[in-house]
Amino acid sequence: MPDGQELLQVFDLEKHYPLGSALFARPKHWVRAVDGVSFSIRSGETLGLVGESGSGKTTTGRCILRLTEPTSGRIVFDGVDLLALRPREMRAMRRHLQVIFQDPYASLDPRMTIGASVEEPLIIHRVGSRPERKVKVRALLEDVGLDPGFASRYPHEFSGGQRQRVGIARALALQPKFIVADEPVSALDVSVQAQIVNLLQVLQRRHGLTYLFISHGMAVVQHICTRVGVMYLGKLVELGETEALFERPLHPYTQVLRSSIPNPDPEAGRERIRPQADPPATAERIPGCPFHPRCPYVMEECRVQEPPLLEIRPGHKVACFLATSA
Ligand code: ADP
Ligand code: MG
Repeated sequence: MPDGQELLQVFDLEKHYPLGSALFARPKHWVRAVDGVSFSIRSGETLGLVGESGSGKTTTGRCILRLTEPTSGRIVFDGVDLLALRPREMRAMRRHLQVIFQDPYASLDPRMTIGASVEEPLIIHRVGSRPERKVKVRALLEDVGLDPGFASRYPHEFSGGQRQRVGIARALALQPKFIVADEPVSALDVSVQAQIVNLLQVLQRRHGLTYLFISHGMAVVQHICTRVGVMYLGKLVELGETEALFERPLHPYTQVLRSSIPNPDPEAGRERIRPQADPPATAERIPGCPFHPRCPYVMEECRVQEPPLLEIRPGHKVACFLATSA
């Protein structure tokens, strides 16, 4: 697919989880983890998804891969309606859509050599003969900047950054078109984060990859994303080109997220953007704009009516009455 065409389209995605024990009774309350999200990703680009913990980023990524079944919505990948696929068809499709997790230690089996971990997707999808797979594993390790001789070693022998490289090699094994990178550097030392972000960029060019890059902070996405979507309580509240979003964020929530960047201490930054701990992850639906209880510019209409996500400049959408009435 030529760069610039839409590889992935997400329409009105919703995922509701029952709140509390749903074992014996029909749940009365639901968490709207993802609450009507629409966006698309062009081939060859990196779309960032930012927002504080609990805003629905991971659930969005998992729904796209169908690791979690969405409650409703439509997901079109490379012209295929993913939610219409039968399980067997989806399994075959999954080689084109891969995931990189935050914590490579948790996603790598400690009892398997890293060579075996990288080879596993090839075995599952019956790619190549045994000797061909061994050659492929060595090439994959080299591709992510690791010594191919490491194949016989175990995850505990490696640093966090090296383990994440193994996780990336594993995600690349089936030559996917699209990768969900869910906080891929959040668990790493700051000094290592840039190396892994760089590697992801190099691999993107080398293999023509398209990324959905999930992050709770905005600093990381600035360098890798073409466009960024901002999520708040399961909704997309702003979406635009990275530069526009950083230079002129329109949503007050985006402004809060951005204002936490200049602080060199990431812990302090995190504190500042979370003045009220986690956002209310309850079944209580906030009337009006979901951000209004925290918004410094709240107006009367914000308490009663929910602002729709509107394109107010070419390619720049925002869900805020202040921005759309200005
Ligand atoms: P993020 O990745 O932005 O931190 P998540 O997508 O993980 O957010 O979570 C969004 C909301 O959905 C949170 O309130 C979370 O508690 C809830 N949630 C996520 N996964 C589940 C689950 N398996 N069961 C119940 N609630 C869930
Ligand atoms: Mg998450």
